Amino acid sequence: MENALNIEPLKNWNIGKDRPLIISGPCSAETEDQVMETAIRLAATGKVDVFRAGIWKPRTRPNSFEGVGSEGLKWLKQVKQETGLPTATEVATEKHVYEALKFGVDVLWIGARTTVNPFAMQEIANALEGVDVMVFIKNPINPELELWVGAIERIYKAGIRRIGAIHRGFSAYEKTAFRNQPRWQIAIDLRQRFPDLAMICDPSHIGGKRAYLLDISQEAMDLNYDGLMIESHIDPDNAWSDKAQQVTPEKLSELIDQLVLRSVVSDDAAFISNIDELRSQIDIYDDQLLDLLERRMQVAETIGQYKKQHGITILQSNRWQEIVNKAMRKGSNKGLSSEFISIILKAIHQESIVHQMKVMNDEAVNDAGIEKSNHVSVIMK
Ligand code: PEP
Ligand code: MN
Repeated sequence: MENALNIEPLKNWNIGKDRPLIISGPCSAETEDQVMETAIRLAATGKVDVFRAGIWKPRTRPNSFEGVGSEGLKWLKQVKQETGLPTATEVATEKHVYEALKFGVDVLWIGARTTVNPFAMQEIANALEGVDVMVFIKNPINPELELWVGAIERIYKAGIRRIGAIHRGFSAYEKTAFRNQPRWQIAIDLRQRFPDLAMICDPSHIGGKRAYLLDISQEAMDLNYDGLMIESHIDPDNAWSDKAQQVTPEKLSELIDQLVLRSVVSDDAAFISNIDELRSQIDIYDDQLLDLLERRMQVAETIGQYKKQHGITILQSNRWQEIVNKAMRKGSNKGLSSEFISIILKAIHQESIVHQMKVMNDEAVNDAGIEKSNHVSVIMK
């Protein structure tokens, strides 16, 4: 059924010029001056296609700033009048939809905390019945493709055709460098279901920190995303929400200039897109391998702590032999040579020992400590 959806491709939406579509503006509309100045400075870069600002903010904890509410919609209208930029805001209830439409907001987006909730999605879809507006649907907070698909289908059934998706990453209980895990494969799977669906990456909410914006944006470009939604603020450090991840309009402009966009030569389009797809799969697997290794080392460190508490040595040969034997058996069933398994396991094991040494003997994180662990793994062979 999904493949039959007749979603309008982004090129026919009549916003933006070339790829990537850039949506930018503050996490939250705070004051009239902040909104206007951000918009004017963004428009001056000539690189922004849509101005965003959160009017109603879903916050994890109460007593955080929850947005200025409807009052801010006047400012968005003024942005459009003064800069000509189409405007976008998040809607989470039917009231938000009616209010935003009343003030001529061009693009509505549905936030990650709303996409997870079919009741809320249906309420919004009902409010959108018969309206011609552009709608972006952010991925649900939890990594569940079907919820994302279901939200898109509800909006589609309301008659909206200019539908896009925003990939803002998925929350994880474990602490990780990024605020939200990208899990790129989920967005790629969504695109495979709906080939015409515009796919926008939101590196601000994935990374959670300014320092990660460029790398995540570049990755999205390499994966052929249609655009980026990046939060910007005239004074990021004093923003009322999401201060660590916002950049000034001028920094945003620099970031966009640094992006490398691959040109697709029309003759070779099929070839290039196949190769890109395969390469992006390789990148995803490599990222996953690194994530797994990071987590494996974290577990090794925890084991190190237990061993330390119970006065047990780092190396337990029986356990190691068991791991090697099991991996050799499994590996050969998967067509992986025993040499490869042996090299990779030794390297992983050695790194685990380095991590455990660090935990068990703090001062061993020097050359001597590493030398010691080399020695240990040589004995183990
Ligand atoms: C936002 O865009 O500011 C926002 C609240 O996003 P998300 O729904 O992705 O958390
Ligand atoms: Mn935000």
